[in-house]
Amino acid sequence: MARNRISQFGDVPLLYDRDPVANYGKCGFRTHPHVDTVFALQTDIAFGEMFLVLEAMDLGQVTAILFGGVDRTGGGSSLHHKGRAFDLDGLVFDNGFIWMADTFATQPHQYLAIEGVLRQNFGTVLTSGYDSAHRDHIHFDNGEPVGFQRHSKSRVLYLQNALKFLFDQMLTIDGVWGPETQSIEREVRKELGLGGLSIRSNWVGFIEASIDIATDRARELNQGGLIA
Ligand SMILES: [Zn+2]
Repeated sequence: MARNRISQFGDVPLLYDRDPVANYGKCGFRTHPHVDTVFALQTDIAFGEMFLVLEAMDLGQVTAILFGGVDRTGGGSSLHHKGRAFDLDGLVFDNGFIWMADTFATQPHQYLAIEGVLRQNFGTVLTSGYDSAHRDHIHFDNGEPVGFQRHSKSRVLYLQNALKFLFDQMLTIDGVWGPETQSIEREVRKELGLGGLSIRSNWVGFIEASIDIATDRARELNQGGLIA
């Protein structure tokens, strides 16, 4: 697969913010990773959509993407070795606000909106709740098609988090598709007028509805001065 050197996505520059060249979330260095051509196009679209959502939250204009890597040398099984995976650390805004990917606990609305946009564009999205390796960044790659799978811990976690923090449902967050999740998911889906999530358009529709709620909530909090 062809690769190109990429310096920006969604017209916003990439800054590498990991050791030894920089400090996570504090500063970053311009780099030009080798990115698979198709993945680069998909990522460009995803970031463009994400920035529109964040603007709608009144968070401001994104001026830099902090990231922990795209390409990796060697021949391991990770899609990083093929330039088809991205580690999102944070986003810098024109007003000085920096969103970081380790803030799910304190700012779930922003996190779930950003995660939602990525899930509409990529099949594999690994987040802080997935495992400790992803506690401080969101990994996404195009190894699997966009869609919901009941056996997928990361997808079920997103569904459960959206149901809890955006649709205000009480349920256990464990990444496991069980009777509780199933019955709450069915209720919420009916209210939204959506069919089963195994159909891609229903999954994308559920995410869309989740992003809309997240945007409204974050905007309200933002206007209340709770976010710097
Ligand atoms: Zn990764």
